[in-house]
Amino acid sequence: MKIWLDGRVVDGKEARVSVLDHGLLYGDGVFEGLRVYGRRVFRLEDHLKRFATSAKAICLELPGGIDAARDIVLETARAFGADEAYVRLIATRGEGPLGIDPTHCREPRLICIADRISVYPESKRRAGMDLLTSSLRQPPADARDPRVKSLGYLNNALARLEARQRGGDEALLLNATGAVCEVSVANVFAVRDGALLTPPGTDGALEGITRATVLELAGSLGIPAREQTLGRFDLFAANEVFVTGSAAGLVPIRSLDGRPIGNASPGPIYEKIREAFLEAAPSRGTAL
Ligand code: PMP
Repeated sequence: MKIWLDGRVVDGKEARVSVLDHGLLYGDGVFEGLRVYGRRVFRLEDHLKRFATSAKAICLELPGGIDAARDIVLETARAFGADEAYVRLIATRGEGPLGIDPTHCREPRLICIADRISVYPESKRRAGMDLLTSSLRQPPADARDPRVKSLGYLNNALARLEARQRGGDEALLLNATGAVCEVSVANVFAVRDGALLTPPGTDGALEGITRATVLELAGSLGIPAREQTLGRFDLFAANEVFVTGSAAGLVPIRSLDGRPIGNASPGPIYEKIREAFLEAAPSRGTAL
């Protein structure tokens, strides 16, 4: 693992930040999770744009702006050196006194980590995961907008914990009206009557970059694809369900709340999209 901190890249064990950083004390900050495929940072500019938008939404000025963030990602990924990697770019509010007031934090802090990641076991990635609907709801956009990729992942972490304690692999998060949002670290897709459907960001999903890529690829494969509000019923009735994310990749879902999804996991549309994704991913990146 390599970590960029305070202007230089160090080994994972050497990186230290103050316990008075408001990222730690209050979850005050934003982040991005990026992938390196074939020595290229996948859709780097899209991640930087989302990073800058998240930062703007919480009134955090990125030190050095997007250009510094880009340099830091590339420097850290190069130092890690692997052809395939996961890169975590973080901006915290920085150090300040105890007390939540962000105006007392003078300098936001950038951190970048390059490592490998495996968010689900390999066997599940192949056979499909068992989803359980979480008792926790995704907060509405006028509370903590889920489209802001903030460091506040407590709801997601507790949803995952609950699913694991009840014997599932992942948690399905709904919003206050019962519409499907996403799972704890990935977006949700359902295939119904040959069409690929995913909830809109306004229902409480992060506008995922893997999700955007899947929507584009579906278009070029001639698979009808669109954003649509979905309920649990739509997932029970679906022929296929799968989830997508930078760290997660593309992973099939074989059951929701004990009901098997479709006839086979993974399903044929998932297989087509995954193949197209693996083929396209290395050509969609910024070279290291
Ligand atoms: N939803 C949540 C809550 C996530 O944490 C992630 C991972 N960043 C995603 C969706 C997928 O987004 P992306 O494809 O941009 O990684």
